[in-house]
Amino acid sequence: MNKVSGDRGNMLAAVYHGPNDLRVEKVPIPTIGKGEILVKVISASICGTDLRIFHGNHRMYLPGIIRIPGHEVVGTIAEVGEEINNISIGQRVFCSPNTGCGHCLQCITGNNNLCANYEAIGVTSDGGFAEYVRIPARSVQQGNLIPVSESIDPAVAALIEPFACVLRGQNALHIKAGDVVLILGAGPIGVMHTKLAKARGAGRVIVSEPVNDRAAHALRMGADRVVDPTSENLKQVLNEESEGRGADCIVVAAPVNAAQESALDLAAISGRINFFGGLPKNSPTINFDSNLVHYKELVVTATTACSTADCWQAAQIINSGLVDLSDLVSRRFPLKDALRAFAAAEDRRSLKIVLEP
Ligand SMILES: [Zn+2]
Ligand SMILES: [Zn+2]
Repeated sequence: MNKVSGDRGNMLAAVYHGPNDLRVEKVPIPTIGKGEILVKVISASICGTDLRIFHGNHRMYLPGIIRIPGHEVVGTIAEVGEEINNISIGQRVFCSPNTGCGHCLQCITGNNNLCANYEAIGVTSDGGFAEYVRIPARSVQQGNLIPVSESIDPAVAALIEPFACVLRGQNALHIKAGDVVLILGAGPIGVMHTKLAKARGAGRVIVSEPVNDRAAHALRMGADRVVDPTSENLKQVLNEESEGRGADCIVVAAPVNAAQESALDLAAISGRINFFGGLPKNSPTINFDSNLVHYKELVVTATTACSTADCWQAAQIINSGLVDLSDLVSRRFPLKDALRAFAAAEDRRSLKIVLEP
């Protein structure tokens, strides 16, 4: 029953050795201790965070750190440590990456992504761009291993994490049936927002995206209208689509200062806005027209990453089939081709790239 005990041997992994130095190499299969679990990775998708890590721009990947990234991971339970009796070998799970301390106010209110002592698989410990990943005891105890249906493509189930971030963003927006929803940006996150907004009953989903391939994805994936803001007047289109009132809900899913600024103007009276993406570190300030917020009674929200509770809700939505993310998986690569996979994740034509170890 214990598939990797005894001679543990080596496994293939994509290991970060420094900025732009990701090496596919053999490393020892992780040893697990009391309360820990070893997961055999089936699928691990590459996210914008992984690209930031790859280029040496992630605050948790300090100089000198050698670590395996990968935090969007689906696999099967391969080995369980002592004192674990509620999880069985062979179960297919999504590994929710974030854990908190478990006892601060943020943790006990279900916002462990905001815990000051936050840890994350693939960020603060070795992640899933490997044949096996060790799940720390804290993650096991805090419910980070979420069962996923075997009827769902594991590459799609790996998208539970980014989808949970999207869900967290929209939970802050309270989209009502019939609302006009504007999404600024049609990368993988923008199209997930599009699908989820439709599933939540949005009346019209308008997507603003200047890159042609991305605009086409958005249209294919349920947007009612896609606008190129560089050649069309977005405000005019919105007015046409909303009987002149503007957008009831706006998601700014592009890390662009001007997009955040424009949201205040494009929002309807009583509109809700979510600043979903962070801005570049070197230019985090915007011109914020406070009077628009005041006189229109706007609600400006922001969300960052996702909690384990968000991942459980996201898994329920994916497991139920309510939202189908299968067309987001653009390409799959074996782990040995991790470098090619990273290059593909960087071209702006594809949506999600998945490694299959
Ligand atoms: Zn991610
Ligand atoms: Zn905490």
